[in-house]
Amino acid sequence: MKLKTKLSLGMGFLFAVILIFGILGIFYITRLKDDATRIIENNHESLVYTNHMERALNSLQTSNNALTEFEKYLKKQEKNITEIGEKEQTENLRRNFELLKTDKQNGSTILEIRTNLIAVSEINQNAILRKNEIAQHTADNAIVLLTILFTILTLITFSFVINFPDIISTPVRALAEGISAIANKQYDERIHIDQKDEFGDLANAFNSMAEKLDAYEHSNLARITFEKSRIETIINQMKDGIVGLDEKRNILFLNVVAENLLGLKEKEIIGKYAPDIALKNDLMRKLLLSETDHKELKIYADNKESYFNKDVFLVMNEDVIIGQVVVLRNITPFHELNEAKTNFIATVSHELKTPLASIKMSAKLLTNEKVGEFNSDQKDLIHSIVEDADRLLKITGELLNMSQVETGNIQLKLQSVSPIEIVENAVQTVLFQAQQKGIEIRLSSMEGLPNIYADKEKAAWVLINLLTNAIKYSYENTKIDLGIIQQKKHLEFFVKDYGYGIEEKYLPKIFDRYFKVPGTHERSGTGLGLAISKEFIEAQQGCLTVSSNLGEGSRFSFSLPLF
Ligand code: ADP
Repeated sequence: MKLKTKLSLGMGFLFAVILIFGILGIFYITRLKDDATRIIENNHESLVYTNHMERALNSLQTSNNALTEFEKYLKKQEKNITEIGEKEQTENLRRNFELLKTDKQNGSTILEIRTNLIAVSEINQNAILRKNEIAQHTADNAIVLLTILFTILTLITFSFVINFPDIISTPVRALAEGISAIANKQYDERIHIDQKDEFGDLANAFNSMAEKLDAYEHSNLARITFEKSRIETIINQMKDGIVGLDEKRNILFLNVVAENLLGLKEKEIIGKYAPDIALKNDLMRKLLLSETDHKELKIYADNKESYFNKDVFLVMNEDVIIGQVVVLRNITPFHELNEAKTNFIATVSHELKTPLASIKMSAKLLTNEKVGEFNSDQKDLIHSIVEDADRLLKITGELLNMSQVETGNIQLKLQSVSPIEIVENAVQTVLFQAQQKGIEIRLSSMEGLPNIYADKEKAAWVLINLLTNAIKYSYENTKIDLGIIQQKKHLEFFVKDYGYGIEEKYLPKIFDRYFKVPGTHERSGTGLGLAISKEFIEAQQGCLTVSSNLGEGSRFSFSLPLF
């Protein structure tokens, strides 16, 4: 039965209860009222008339209009005959009254009339008693009937009141429970309502929805599981170590390489808070440090010193960070190749140095007049041989220095050094070059400067390199300022030229290995000089800096600690 029908029936029943009670109540009250009216109209009034007639009869001797009065009530009585026998008695009364009118003093007629009046009165009194009994009976019937009806209806209504809320609330509760189960992803939840009403339909609709969700979830789950194992396979096949963290930095996964590197098993640490693990694991701590702190990591792995590059990728979902993946890229092969290259360069440079030096020496000896006279063309050729040998020696020297830097083998002879000695040495070396371009090197006063704690040769090498660059990248017939500024704990050597200058965007790269400003006027050079200088100065606890403006010149300076 439909819920709507049930509700209609329930309401209809209550309406019927009210209607029946109302009708029965009105019916019985009307009946009782009718009985009362009948008693008053039919019998009580007859008693009143007989009473008046009695009084008129009594005042017959004293009152002149007693007969008129008697007749008036007799007429009323004649019109109010309602009981059996009342008519005969009233007719007797009329007959005797007519006799009385002719003989007022007739005692027997008066007696007859009195008897008639008593008879009429008695008939009506009896009728009143009888009708009262009937009314009493009607009232009793009404009470019994209404009481029985009231009891039955009360019982039915009571059972309605008890049961009806359940008809609604039970399925609503079942539906609410089902919905909350679905909200908690329990798609196997079903609702059982054996009612053929709207709730039954709702339960069926709910069950079919849950079934579809269940099927969807399972197909989704299968797809996700498939994707997961695919990604796991890929991750485990990779040669790089991979660690996945959620947004709270709990460990989600790590591949076999990461397991080996960290010396931890995935199943032992999965779900654990990574910083807790970092307390006992050095590598994990390095992995969790912010990216710039430890870009390249040196780890003992595969039975050798290995190098890893750390990359951190944030996992985003709709602009919200939901985790991060740390990738330890194994760059050991590149390191090994680089090392091989450095060794090769070092060996070649070293091997080239001796024959180059002897070429230079031989060429210089050729210029000696003892060897013989050369014409001017031959002299020019010999001069260019010496120049090229010089350039090659400089390059091999730089390459050798670079190999030292790259292998971390900078050999320092730190000692107390006079800064003036370094400056003089450097100026001496580049003087010829400067003069050739008509460049004047202006030295600022260097009196009373304290000694520094440095490697004399390397410091001079750096200064020579800066001066050579300043000459190289200056216009002809300009000036170069060279000076030393004393600071609290160090001396600052500076070389300022008024040459081409360097564009601001290239300044951060100027100290990178093999970097040359694009479109540089001087094409010769390896791009290693400044890189080596920086390493040399930093190895001596100093610092090399540059400031430059395009077209206005550059200022390079380095600091070295006081002795
Ligand atoms: P290079 O041997 O090429 O001079 P460096 O490492 O000494 O190598 O210099 C790197 C680059 O920096 C140069 O190629 C040049 O473009 C630029 N540079 C260095 N010094 C100066 C300077 N004083 N003025 C302008 N550019 C300079």
